[in-house]
Amino acid sequence: ALYHAKHVHGGGVCLFTPSLETAVRADRAIEAALQASSFEEELSIVLQPIVELASGRLSAVEVLARWSNPMLGEISAMEFIAIAERSTAIHSITRAVFKKGLKAARQLPDCVAVSFNISACDLTSASTLAFIRDEIASAGIAPHRIWIEVTETAVMRNADAAAQALQAFRDLGVGIALDDFGTGYSSLGYVQRLPLDKVKIDRSFVGALDTEEGSTITSAVITLCHTIGLTCVAEGVETEAQRQTLAEAGCEHAQGYLFSKPLPLAELLLRCADAQAS
Ligand code: C2E
Ligand code: CA
Ligand code: CA
Ligand code: CA
Repeated sequence: ALYHAKHVHGGGVCLFTPSLETAVRADRAIEAALQASSFEEELSIVLQPIVELASGRLSAVEVLARWSNPMLGEISAMEFIAIAERSTAIHSITRAVFKKGLKAARQLPDCVAVSFNISACDLTSASTLAFIRDEIASAGIAPHRIWIEVTETAVMRNADAAAQALQAFRDLGVGIALDDFGTGYSSLGYVQRLPLDKVKIDRSFVGALDTEEGSTITSAVITLCHTIGLTCVAEGVETEAQRQTLAEAGCEHAQGYLFSKPLPLAELLLRCADAQAS
């Protein structure tokens, strides 16, 4: 097969180097562990504050999954979510994250929204939709306190099906945010036709705010979002200068290490109590 590949691709043989081999083996190990894991036990969540820029108040938290496996240790969310998306493991993860996130929501003030990431395969799964609907109802949480984040790339993979699926989520009364906005290839005309409430402006735009060109582009993106009736959340805000530029550009919400890294619920609750006391 290698010889064949060499001929077909004009010498572009795919070299099976030791590092690649290790990576493939690691992927396999994660894949196997995902199948065997009890997510109720091994999965935990952290919550990252989202702040209203005008007032500085906590407007929401984003729920982020953390996985610690007895054999493999801590595996980054980026890594295990991508592998879980290749099988039905992603559905089990989504369910475990929702259960834990809704439990956390009950302990947070009613004015704080709770935002969940969902994958492309969750979006089009009728049973996941029903699960989320039932869990929100049995947790006794007002649906408008829940936001669903779906990446631009996931939506654009099958735009018509995604639009329909997003509408089904919206019919539950939850808010819909387009995640990692600006990293995909969606035309604004298409975004306008999706049933969205918010746009999460990707970190790469926020990182570019330090240059004049970058801040002009980001301001224009914020203005465009407002024109089509969407609220903006800036991601990855790390400096005071970025916060200020975003506030001046009229961006409503922001999230990033400047405000807080993702925290376990207990730590977040302590911070809320401190803020109330002062
Ligand atoms: P995301 O949805 O874009 O989440 C934001 C990521 O940026 C998080 O990484 C967060 O810890 C990180 N971050 C937050 N503030 C800053 C900052 O100021 N600077 C920098 N450099 N990074 C910041 P994390 O937790 O490792 O998650 C990575 C990705 O994994 C997420 O990206 C999301 O796509 C996915 N993910 C995490 N939890 C879930 C989940 O429960 N379900 C699904 N489907 N995906 C998830
Ligand atoms: Ca997200
Ligand atoms: Ca994001
Ligand atoms: Ca991302």
